Amino acid sequence: MSFLDLADQYQSFDFDGYFQGVTPVDVGTSLGKAGDMNRLDVYDLLNLLSPAAAEFLEPMAQKARELTLQYFGRTIGLYAPMYISDFCSNHCTYCGFNAVTDFPRTRLTMEEIETEAKAIADLGIRHILVLTGEAPAKTPMGYLEEAVSILARHFSSIALEMFPMEEADYRQLSEAGADSLTVYQEVYDQALYKEVHPKGPKSDYAFRLLTPERGARAGFRALNIGTLFGLGKPGAEAFMAGLHARYLEQEFPHVEVSLSLPRMTKAEGGIAPKNHLSDAAFVQTMLAWRLFMPRLGITVSTRESAAFRDRLIHLGATRYSAGSKTDVGGYLVRNPGASSGEPGGPGAKNPDTTVQFEITDNRSVSEITEMIRASGYQPVFKDWEIF
Ligand code: SF4
Repeated sequence: MSFLDLADQYQSFDFDGYFQGVTPVDVGTSLGKAGDMNRLDVYDLLNLLSPAAAEFLEPMAQKARELTLQYFGRTIGLYAPMYISDFCSNHCTYCGFNAVTDFPRTRLTMEEIETEAKAIADLGIRHILVLTGEAPAKTPMGYLEEAVSILARHFSSIALEMFPMEEADYRQLSEAGADSLTVYQEVYDQALYKEVHPKGPKSDYAFRLLTPERGARAGFRALNIGTLFGLGKPGAEAFMAGLHARYLEQEFPHVEVSLSLPRMTKAEGGIAPKNHLSDAAFVQTMLAWRLFMPRLGITVSTRESAAFRDRLIHLGATRYSAGSKTDVGGYLVRNPGASSGEPGGPGAKNPDTTVQFEITDNRSVSEITEMIRASGYQPVFKDWEIF
């Protein structure tokens, strides 16, 4: 059974009705089961995501902290995103790079990729997340393969966040040096998925949903998935993302599975969030996922504010992006001030380029590293090596 079959079973599930019926006793019972691998079932996850569980944040946090220390120690992995192309043929209504937003598109040359890679590596970063829009005519396999092999000279782990591909394509990029895959379903609710992806290849819900499975079969050692909070109803979306992560963990035990909690931020040409996820609900979601899956990686990006990210370290987060730029060539190639330490340096962006989304935590890599140490944790730049 693929995850599509499982997801189909929940398309008509009455999430609102279920959540309203959850009592404090139900939450307490689910919380009491936390600790052992796979001991919590799907109803426990629903209970912990329900409004009734909002009153249990403190005991949930204590248990989540314990489990995170047990499975990960006091560590926070660091990575940086690197955009190499912003050409895109999709019409995602929430994204600044969508096909109808008018701005000068760009794609880095191999020389520029090398320059950008060196600038990022000079910051101490060893794990890179490489991103493109979906425009295979502009970024064909040959281009991507060459880009990955250049990055492999500078980084010890290369994660791809590109368009969904066939298993054979993933194998090819894996052989070039990529080892991980990030793909967000964006929204698990099928009707809403159709609404926010009206045109372009991304409108194929099933093909996108099955992407992590193709990636795992192609040999990637780590998968990072998630839903874009702001589109669908947060409780239902958090549940589906958790269900998806557990499915992947059980089907592919050799793969490291993580979840991200991207919240929509302002994007030029993009729609405003319809279903806001509050800070408290964000924390509750993270805690519920941790209790449901003790060895799940949890990634928090620079979409979140510095003050909020500082607090999340103690609540189960395991991986942070640092010093991020969300425009093509944003580290050096198109933005020479960004890594030079000049005024507005690390957080600066070139006013002539377009970002996919606005960053909220603009601190440099060294500032984030200091914060992690000051919190009693160890920043981890490298926990994987490409051979
Ligand atoms: S979210 Fe990705 S696929 Fe959609 S428009 Fe933006 S870059 Fe393209």
